[in-house]
Amino acid sequence: MINPFHNFLHKQIPVLMFLSLFPGLGYIGLGWLYGNVYPALIWYIMILVSSVYGYFVYKRYDLTAFDSSLLQKNYSSMRYFYYSQFVLWAIIFVLYTITKIYELHYIAIFTQLGASVVATVLLASDKKLYYPIIALMIIPLSIYFFIIGTWYGYVLCIFSLIFMGVLFYGATSSYNLLIKTHFQANHDSLTGIKNRHYVIEFLQKVINKISKSGNFSFILLIDLDHFKTINDSLGHDIGDSLLIDVTKRMQSIANNENTLGRLGGDEFIVIGSEYNSEKDALKQAMACADKLLQKIKTHYKIEQNYLSISASIGVSVISDKCDEASVFIKEADIAMYEAKERGRNGILVFNEDMSKRVQQHLEIERYLHFALQNSEIQLNYQPQCNKEHKIVGCEVLMRWNSKELGAVSPADFIPIAEQTGIIIELGHYTLQESFKTLAKWDKNAIELEQFSVNISIRQMFHPNFIDDVISLSEKYLNPSLCSKLIFEITESMIADNIDMVISIMQTLKQIGIRFSMDDFGTGYSSLSYLKQLPMYELKIDRSFVSNLENSSDDREMISIIKEIARRFNLSIVAEGAETSKQMQYLFDEGCDIVQGYFFSKPKTKEEFEQFYITSSNLKKI
Ligand code: C2E
Ligand code: CA
Ligand code: CA
Repeated sequence: MINPFHNFLHKQIPVLMFLSLFPGLGYIGLGWLYGNVYPALIWYIMILVSSVYGYFVYKRYDLTAFDSSLLQKNYSSMRYFYYSQFVLWAIIFVLYTITKIYELHYIAIFTQLGASVVATVLLASDKKLYYPIIALMIIPLSIYFFIIGTWYGYVLCIFSLIFMGVLFYGATSSYNLLIKTHFQANHDSLTGIKNRHYVIEFLQKVINKISKSGNFSFILLIDLDHFKTINDSLGHDIGDSLLIDVTKRMQSIANNENTLGRLGGDEFIVIGSEYNSEKDALKQAMACADKLLQKIKTHYKIEQNYLSISASIGVSVISDKCDEASVFIKEADIAMYEAKERGRNGILVFNEDMSKRVQQHLEIERYLHFALQNSEIQLNYQPQCNKEHKIVGCEVLMRWNSKELGAVSPADFIPIAEQTGIIIELGHYTLQESFKTLAKWDKNAIELEQFSVNISIRQMFHPNFIDDVISLSEKYLNPSLCSKLIFEITESMIADNIDMVISIMQTLKQIGIRFSMDDFGTGYSSLSYLKQLPMYELKIDRSFVSNLENSSDDREMISIIKEIARRFNLSIVAEGAETSKQMQYLFDEGCDIVQGYFFSKPKTKEEFEQFYITSSNLKKI
């Protein structure tokens, strides 16, 4: 066992050296004064030798570079130093008390008492040191008093033994307090496992060792999925109990070989042991992660609740490529987030591609903040046509032409805008600009039956959303134009908050706005939502259209969606038709409207106007 208070003991070395070297000089003086200098001189030389040894032990110490065996060696050396110093103090006591000069006795008694107090204070962090050393200081003193052989000698002997008891008590109390604070500083108070502070320090030691040995290890970063929902819906007590249960299960798997710690919240870390090859480390990491995931997923009974939870795990293999703990933690973090992005409940190993994606994500995030004020955001409009190929509607699609990054796809920046909240400003801008366009087109005789705008979840749930829509529509539109608006929302956003979605939809429906279920069939389609929501339209996702010629599954899916729409009395828009075959198939299947490159790519406002005029002229001819 390595002494946990290594640092503390280490810091006391120079203190003790100082306390020995200076008062020690006094003994040489006394020896000289009383004509007995040589024993004192020899004694002092021994103090010097022991101190030089102490100095080297002190200098050699390096917590960050030492692995456990070096620490153990260093600890033994420190103990030798402390023992030697106090043994020498015991020797000088004996030397001076066997003389006939009583003044020297008093001085020796005092220094002996002093040394015992010094031992109690300096060595309180180590039982193996303070017990024998306090005894070594006091017992000769008690014997001395006893040998006097008179009543006061016996009284002093008993007093000195009581004094020893008090010192033991004092040192032990300090020791227990240290142990307690040390435990609290390194353990998580809720689960009792190692805390962030400890594991990061420990990981750094593992990395130091690996950078010398060239071996491999791994870390797993484990984050529970949707833990916040449990906390919010069932309360923190249940959340805490669940965390404790999850920890127990993980502990049973991490066991002796690996170190388990809690980084905070619902995030845990496992640090693996050492392996000779990267392949072995990775294999063990995957095996451990797999077991953890399976174990975490088995359901829990907490009070009256049956709960189940999954986790996303990021893996980083530790090698000697770098010697900073934070780098490997970041890698595992990136892999963990990627696992979350891919639908949670999974394990991913970090690779460089991920790091590039994160880099790209960060860049988008950085520049997106200024996109609106730099006028880099524009709107495009993609025509939607009916069976007669007449343009009856359009979908508004955002475009970002970044000065720094070039054209960035909304598929890349919209999710980031949602995460960061920038979607609120972008969404407001889109509503405002598209309403202006709708009003302008109405004036210019571009008559559409419907005008679709994408609305994202965060935007819709923003407290000002309804007021914003109402005030913009009052400013730019009239009621008849309002009733052309279709807000496209995606299914995935509905799941968590169906009641709120219904209430928002009902309010907006009163001013004529209709709703479309975008990307239908790609997410967690639930017919029960569809039944509850006041929908007007279903959008068949591009993924079912792009390959329908070759995929009977896709054709099947389209037919099912069509059937659902018919049952719920919904209009159907299919998007992503690129070929005439696809377009024809979709109309034949009963789609009301088709949107796709076959008719037109998304266009700027001016291009759309031109396109509309040309195609309606063509129709007339
Ligand atoms: P979405 O709502 O599913 O939009 C349809 C996407 O399919 C658009 O991509 C459109 O350009 C593309 N598309 C349409 N027809 C075809 C086709 O025939 N072939 C191919 N290959 N693609 C076709 P875009 O513009 O890149 O938008 C991607 C996604 O970004 C949209 O998917 C939507 O979820 C989101 N988005 C775009 N604009 C906005 C916006 O203003 N607000 C919000 N909240 N999201 C937006
Ligand atoms: Ca859409
Ligand atoms: Ca879509």
